[in-house]
This record gives sequence, structure tokens and C-alpha cells, in this order.
Amino acid sequence: MLATDNLVVAYGGSVALHGISMHVGSGETVALIGANGAGKTTLLRGISGLNPIRSGSIRFDGQTLGTLASEKRVRLGIAQAPEGRRIFPGLTVEENLILGTTPWRRWGQSPAKDLERVFDLFPRLKERRTQLGWSLSGGEQQMLAIGRALMARPRLLLLDEPSLGLAPRLAEEVYERIREIAAAGLTILVVEQNTVLALAVADRGYVLENGRVVLEGSAAELKQDARVREAYLGR
Ligand code: ATP
Repeated sequence: MLATDNLVVAYGGSVALHGISMHVGSGETVALIGANGAGKTTLLRGISGLNPIRSGSIRFDGQTLGTLASEKRVRLGIAQAPEGRRIFPGLTVEENLILGTTPWRRWGQSPAKDLERVFDLFPRLKERRTQLGWSLSGGEQQMLAIGRALMARPRLLLLDEPSLGLAPRLAEEVYERIREIAAAGLTILVVEQNTVLALAVADRGYVLENGRVVLEGSAAELKQDARVREAYLGR
């Protein structure tokens, strides 16, 4: 479904990604793991069109994305729940979710069924549907960010550090929901510093260091890899 080939992304003169080649198959959940500053967010933002690429290519569903604008990528089926959630604090839960329907709202379709699906997945969002974004807990905000991305009816869901800043129990809960979304067949690319959680849901993964892929394999292989165990799993 998604493939990057020798992707280079730079911030001015500072190269953040030095030629990344990776792929995500239809229905797969793939994890990008690595330390702070490894380039995970930069790669995700390159795929969603938020960071321009310097060279290399990104193909989605057989189409080269090139310089295609972000909003057009969303219409193609790529939706991102960004790092730090970026929900709208002054809008209600339901209004935040409805904003996710922008790519298809012009067709005049009702969001009722989409809302129902998100509320089934995250019952707490349903309870809080009229509450303002700022009043939600961190875990609820993360659920809202994922729910908003789902409202776009994506075929590829990009998740940037969904466990960031959450207490362990809440992070696990968020990952339980991600597992359900994956089990329903959606293709997911998840960036995560919490390697234990990410490899528990992923089919495969890539390890990024200093803007390069240094290791790739099935989640089972990565969990057993001595370098991953030492650097990212804490044993
Ligand atoms: P984190 O987990 O901290 O988000 P990451 O693996 O997602 O880390 P990136 O945020 O992609 O890493 O950063 C990759 C490199 O690009 C780092 O060296 C970072 O300092 C640099 N970088 C990121 N954003 C910018 C920016 N807006 N301007 C300049 N340099 C940037």
C-alpha cells in the first residue's frame, strides 16, 4: 500500500532522513521505533505531506505522491493522528470529530455512522461528546485524535507516538484500541518510543537511528534482537 524509496528529508541544511526505504502492506500494522530525534516524526510527516521531501519517492496505492498537498493525500486515504494530539481545545469532542470528515464532507454525506463507529470504539468519547477538548484527560485527548483521523475514512492510519505523556495504564488502553482498529483490517503505521507497546501490536517494524533504517524485521524478530533488547526494551 505504501512504499518509500531512498527518501531524503532535510530542514534547511540539516538532513534528517538519509535515504529511507520502507514499505507497509495492505492490512499490516508496522511500527517505526527509535530514540528521540531518530527521524520518526519527520518520516511520518513526509508521508502525510507536511514535510517536503528533498529526494527519493513515496508511493501510495501505486501512485507517486511527489509534491501532492497534504489535504489531497487525506482524500486519497492517508490520515494522521499527530504527535501531541493537536486537538482543538475550544471545540467539543463531537466538533473535533466532525472536523475529521473534511475530506468527504463535500459529498453531503451524514457523519452519523462514522461517529457511531468511533463512539463504539471509544465509549468515553461518547460520554464526553459535548465536553470541550481542553477538559479531557491526556488519554481521552489521544483517543479523540485517533477518532478524528478515523473520521476521515482512511485506508492508511498514521499514528505518531500515541503513548506520549500517558500513564502506563492509559497507554495500554490506547494500544488495546489500536489493536482493535488493526484487527478490523485497517492498515497502520505507528511511530513510537515505547517499543514494548508498539511491538506488541505490530506485525513488522523498522528501527531508525540518526535518520537511517538500521534494522527491520517482524515484530517477533525485533523483540528477540539483542540490539533492540538492549537499546529499546531495557534488558
Ligand atoms: P521524537 O521522538 O523526539 O519526536 P523523532 O524520531 O520523531 O523524535 P524527528 O522529530 O523526526 O525525530 O527529528 C529528526 C531530526 O530532525 C532531529 O535531529 C531533529 O532535531 C530535527 N528536526 C525535527 N524537526 C525540525 C525542525 N522543524 N527544524 C529543524 N530540525 C528539525
